[in-house]
Amino acid sequence: MSEPTGGREPGGAVSLVYAHLRTRIVNGEIPPGTKINIESVARSLEVSQTPVRETLQKLEADGLLDYSPGRGYMTTPVLDAEGLESLFELRFLIEPWSTRVVAEDRITNPGRRLRAELERFEAEISEGGDLRQLVLAHDSRFHGLILKATGNPNVCQAFEQSQAHLHLFRLSPVDRDGQIALREHTRIVEAIADCDPDAAEEAMRAHLQQSYERSAHVFDSESLGGLKRANAYRAHRHRILR
Ligand SMILES: [Zn+2]
Repeated sequence: MSEPTGGREPGGAVSLVYAHLRTRIVNGEIPPGTKINIESVARSLEVSQTPVRETLQKLEADGLLDYSPGRGYMTTPVLDAEGLESLFELRFLIEPWSTRVVAEDRITNPGRRLRAELERFEAEISEGGDLRQLVLAHDSRFHGLILKATGNPNVCQAFEQSQAHLHLFRLSPVDRDGQIALREHTRIVEAIADCDPDAAEEAMRAHLQQSYERSAHVFDSESLGGLKRANAYRAHRHRILR
């Protein structure tokens, strides 16, 4: 017999525990360096320990938990300045290029899908709820849609593995009402829908730059050095990526 799961299917219990813990870690309700007690999570969510263990492994893969045999699972530190730079160097390499590529292709142009995503997000924020989680989910879907539209699975995989959104949202509570994302994303969508690769690439680059600066404000100004390095790739982008 399997362990009780509070009347839920085991897979459903994993989704429930995962959503619960992930939200609490990203929102900072469970601070960095906190030990996660499997028994007490299972008890408070009325599930068995099996889905909790499975969830903790998923959160470890997301980079939100560390496991050590002696101490068990602990929440990881938030990004430091170096981690932030490293993440944005990756984003500057793949996202302006991806945005250009999808704006060039009239047949597979994702303009309509991206507009639908913006409309969905506007409807969600007007209904209320946990705005921070809505912004996180929208930003993740929006950037994912553009990368997926390139048809390059390696680009998508590199971005997914970075778990960029989880780490950025954990770092700094910017854009609380989602209006910044809406404004900057709209500019990107318009350029893509107009099949204007230069404007699309530039709009994505500006969005990343502003997003980096919003996140980097928690560190001292020296952390902006990494951005200069990322921007230096711009001069070589034709050689590197085209
Ligand atoms: Zn965004």
